[in-house]
Amino acid sequence: MLNLVLFGAPGSGKGTQSAKLIDEYGLHHISTGEVLRDHIKRGTELGKIAQGYISQGQLIPDELMISILDEVLEKEAKGKKGVIFDGFPRTIPQAEALKGLLQKRGTDLHAVVGLEVPEDELVERMLNRGKETGRADDNLETIKKRLEVYHSQTSPLRDYYHKEGKYMPINGSGVVDEIFASIAKGLEEKTGACRK
Ligand code: AMP
Repeated sequence: MLNLVLFGAPGSGKGTQSAKLIDEYGLHHISTGEVLRDHIKRGTELGKIAQGYISQGQLIPDELMISILDEVLEKEAKGKKGVIFDGFPRTIPQAEALKGLLQKRGTDLHAVVGLEVPEDELVERMLNRGKETGRADDNLETIKKRLEVYHSQTSPLRDYYHKEGKYMPINGSGVVDEIFASIAKGLEEKTGACRK
């Protein structure tokens, strides 16, 4: 299996690059943000809880998020070539939990692709996405909160995965295809990943 975390601030291009990785490497994509937005759309109990946090730019509590991911893995990951985790983990306890969830399935995390993008570009991209897709949390007030949360709770994961020898920094600024080419090169060198 090839299990990857696509890591980066909100607006760093995780969703865009995931779509390309799925196509090229035949991996299964799990975006915790999309899982939550789907619950909100369907009006489930979980969706109602998630909505409160998402609209404030805050993270869903770890325990709840980890149990959701465990369920999604159980339903979706069996028999797959590998999984791209997009938007998970966002805290150190989530990273510890991911290790356990993969271990209990007899597998491991192979690399963390870190998309590094300057802050002004992140804000601009999210504002554009808000206009184009109507995504509710892509407004300036919530974007600022999400970036604060990223700096305080999520960015320490860079060091965490660097120490584990898994962190692969990628310049996430510029043209989508060029960014993808540097991810592919890095992954092939680091993990021996092969395209489909
Ligand atoms: P995303 O689509 O990854 O930008 O996520 C959108 C929102 O969903 C975030 O701002 C959080 O409120 C929530 N969310 C997504 N993934 C997680 C996670 N791993 N832990 C906690 N909250 C999350």
